[in-house]
Amino acid sequence: PQSKLPHVGTTIFTVIGQLAAQHQAINLSQGAPNFACSDTLVRYAHEAMQAGHNQYAPMSGLPALREAIAAKVATLYGQPYHPDSEVTVMASASEALFSAITALVHPGDEVIVFEPAFDSYIPMIELQGARAVVIKLAAPDFAIPWDEVAARITPRTRMMVLNTPHNPTGTVLGAADAARLQALTAGTDIVILSDEVYEHVVFDGQLHHSMSRYPALAERAVVVTSFGKTFHVTGWRVGYCLAPAALMDEIRKVHQFAMFAADTPMQHALARLMAEPGHYLGLAAFYQRKRDLLVSALAGSRLQLLPSHGSFFLLAGYGHLSDEPDSQLVQRLITEHGVATIPVSAFYGDGTDQRLIRLSFAKDDATLLAGAERLCRL
Ligand code: GLN
Repeated sequence: PQSKLPHVGTTIFTVIGQLAAQHQAINLSQGAPNFACSDTLVRYAHEAMQAGHNQYAPMSGLPALREAIAAKVATLYGQPYHPDSEVTVMASASEALFSAITALVHPGDEVIVFEPAFDSYIPMIELQGARAVVIKLAAPDFAIPWDEVAARITPRTRMMVLNTPHNPTGTVLGAADAARLQALTAGTDIVILSDEVYEHVVFDGQLHHSMSRYPALAERAVVVTSFGKTFHVTGWRVGYCLAPAALMDEIRKVHQFAMFAADTPMQHALARLMAEPGHYLGLAAFYQRKRDLLVSALAGSRLQLLPSHGSFFLLAGYGHLSDEPDSQLVQRLITEHGVATIPVSAFYGDGTDQRLIRLSFAKDDATLLAGAERLCRL
């Protein structure tokens, strides 16, 4: 058949995961915990199944879960999303991104994307017959060049995809970014699609600048987030999105025919856990300690570590050691040194290679120490 995605192969996370398993490498590649989620959450899921919650959930999500989400967002970010019309539980944050892009982006539209970018954004845009307008973020701070954004906005710009905290660089947007964004989008019909799956993983006392903190941005934003990242259950495939009712109506039209509804027993379990106040409060400190453990374990390595302000990731440069392409180095690290990482060129449509690798610290301490020890031999 004629491919709809002729330039797309298998996602890097699958390719590296398979290679790591084949070589029994210490795996610092995928942003997925290798440690257990809470026993309580597992028990809640089990009890929900035993209680017979095994058939379709409501299309937009379990009411108790939507109410818990709206209450959390109002408390944390001050924005009153209506649980009936402005909150939808999705079968993963990936589904939320896909349903939002499919619902809101038309053929011929332009969508601004910042690279390095998570590998699904551009294919999702291109599947709509739309064009990704790529703006590059430069090392070491990977800040958004707002003057360039202003120059690249055209009457065809339909959407801008943001990601904070950012995968793979660990940067976070600040109040000044929000102000620029507000000024640039005022009076336009540009939708901001904001991937905030690491919303609770922001370090060093910084705030998460959710689009839902800013009324002038929230009115044009689709905010996507994930229970997998917050509760260590990436395999449950449950996330949610927030949007003003007029946008959400369109997103639900796609969601109802793509997935119909998210997993029922998992929604019951998550709703029970979310009813306990402050369930997300320890997460930033939990991951900050892991970041610091990995950084200190790499103190004796020759890699150049870039600062990570949030997310599960930090970047390491090796250009001063070797001129090897990053995908080749990553392959060699797996096969010769037994440690798996992700080449950052995978986050660029044109394969831009800055001799950077991404390390995930969403791993138990023993794995972080063992992986670091192997990286120190480089
Ligand atoms: N978000 C995670 C990462 O960046 C997992 C992505 C995936 O495997 N689809 O590693």
